[in-house]
Amino acid sequence: MEQIIVPDAINLEDDAVVILWEDAHRSPFPHRYLRLRCPCANCVDEMSGKRTLDPDTVPSDVKALDQLPAGKYGIQFLWSDAHYTGIYTYKVLRAACPCIICGEARAKVNNSNGNSADGGAGDLPAGDANPS
Ligand SMILES: [Zn+2]
Ligand SMILES: [Zn+2]
Repeated sequence: MEQIIVPDAINLEDDAVVILWEDAHRSPFPHRYLRLRCPCANCVDEMSGKRTLDPDTVPSDVKALDQLPAGKYGIQFLWSDAHYTGIYTYKVLRAACPCIICGEARAKVNNSNGNSADGGAGDLPAGDANPS
């Protein structure tokens, strides 16, 4: 049984989509950061999970104009580039939280469980090659 943390509030602010989670965590997602993570079939190849969205086609000032819940588990955003088909699950959003705390936690765990379509953070384990 998987526990999913859900948002208490999602605020579309000027420079970020700010999610306040029920566990009092706060995730400030820059608009474009989220837009580039759109999980819809236009932005990600469903077969390979590869991201097909070309970041160059996304305006640098793209913004979430509106939001609507997608079932109990996620949310859709209406983007200023007229894109809205992606459903961002709360699980994915929380996992993508850009805050420092989560960044450090991710760096610690760092076991890729392979089902995220994340191409290229390039964090190869370094320095483990020569056990002394
Ligand atoms: Zn999309
Ligand atoms: Zn966080």
